[in-house]
Amino acid sequence: MIDTSELKLTRKNHENHKTIVNINGKKIGDGTFTIMAGPCAVDFNDDFNQTAIDIKNMGLTFLRGGAFKPRTSPYSFQGHKEEGLKLLREVADKYGLLVVTEVVDTRDVELVAKYSDILQIGTRNMQNFALLQEAGLSMKPVLLKRGFAATISEFLSSAEYVLSTGNKDLILCERGIRTFETTARNTLDINAIPILKELTHLPVIVDPSHASGIAKIVPSITKAILAVGADGAIIEAYSNPENALSDKDQTISTATLKALKEDLEKLSQVLEVSVQ
Ligand code: PEP
Ligand code: MN
Repeated sequence: MIDTSELKLTRKNHENHKTIVNINGKKIGDGTFTIMAGPCAVDFNDDFNQTAIDIKNMGLTFLRGGAFKPRTSPYSFQGHKEEGLKLLREVADKYGLLVVTEVVDTRDVELVAKYSDILQIGTRNMQNFALLQEAGLSMKPVLLKRGFAATISEFLSSAEYVLSTGNKDLILCERGIRTFETTARNTLDINAIPILKELTHLPVIVDPSHASGIAKIVPSITKAILAVGADGAIIEAYSNPENALSDKDQTISTATLKALKEDLEKLSQVLEVSVQ
């Protein structure tokens, strides 16, 4: 498939070699399908609190939400930063949820690590090697998204940077790549899922929201993701997507997420995995 000689730390050494990332007892990569959900950006409104309640009531554990947003334009909303992190932590703690949020700058790793259970490194920073190392050194679990123009081999080289710090808790995330097709925001590289599962021992999740950019197709894509063997999905969901600060076109309602979870549970019986 690809030359794995340089994949010293990411490569799968034998058929049963797999990393299970354990976050306060919640395991990612143990054969269950983990759903992480929440808005693109954390916001100070009732919707954010309601979203956390809905996520909790569905039996999910991971609340996502950006406080530092890596926006393509410097004039777009950049996130509520530390105030957003505090709110994210407070709301998550109130409902017993775990936090996943993005860090975009090496100078903020310590700060974000203080409030978050998983450090997300976004597509635009996949080859920010200083950030990969700093995030790794925090010893917090890292969720590394594939660069939108990165090959699988480059993606795994970036993963090597994180693992080479000694941090073993790394989750890979396919989130769509840029192709000639522009109808959807990105093109989900569905091949990448079984390929990564074949090549590496790391958990592989998928972001159907950024992969498509279209809320309406997020549920069907997520079912495909489960079917093809991913360890989970990170989904933009909000109690009322109309009120989302960013990425509202790709954000599903928490009501839709609940229906999706039920569909995934039905599918998972056939596939012999469980959904959490
Ligand atoms: C996000 O998760 O909100 C995000 C910005 O993702 P990506 O880095 O995949 O674009
Ligand atoms: Mn987003």
